[in-house]
Amino acid sequence: MYEGAVQDLIDELGRLPGVGPKSAQRIAFHLLAADAADVRRLADALTEVKLRVRFCEICGNVAESEQCRICRDPRRSAEVICVVEEPKDVVAIERTREFRGKYHVLGGAINPIDNVGPDDLRIRELLTRLADGAVQEVILAMDPNVEGEATATYLTRMLSPMGLRVSRLASGLPVGGDLEYADEVTLGRAFEGRRVVSG
Ligand SMILES: [Zn+2]
Repeated sequence: MYEGAVQDLIDELGRLPGVGPKSAQRIAFHLLAADAADVRRLADALTEVKLRVRFCEICGNVAESEQCRICRDPRRSAEVICVVEEPKDVVAIERTREFRGKYHVLGGAINPIDNVGPDDLRIRELLTRLADGAVQEVILAMDPNVEGEATATYLTRMLSPMGLRVSRLASGLPVGGDLEYADEVTLGRAFEGRRVVSG
């Protein structure tokens, strides 16, 4: 334990995902030794992101206004929605340039161990978006791991009675990983070769 401000910083850093106590301590001492200007830039970036960035009221992607850039774009098809776990997955899929529809960001995946159930994800919002019948196809693009699989299976069951086409990315993505780690070519192919699971 350190005194006051240093310990506060270590505690805050330690709350970040993937940062254990040792890393928190290392980062804290790195910041202590860094130039004041560098630390100021980091502090400003943290403040700015909370001030300016929010989540799109339609799809849940990160946005700097009420709606994100993709939802506001009239050239994007409103007939296809690609459902992903996190905003970073939107970035990964956009990089492939294979998809010209819109997105829906769930905010995670079903994970009983971490107590994340369907009600904790933006599934109700998805069903609301689908209610008017304008959407023809929903592409489920979950991470290729156990939680992603559970989420896709749950969504397939929810969406099947709605009479629209539900498809899933083709296999070939590295199993156990994150969508964002798949290279553009692999992810692009998985997109093109998506298989219909309902409808
Ligand atoms: Zn949006």
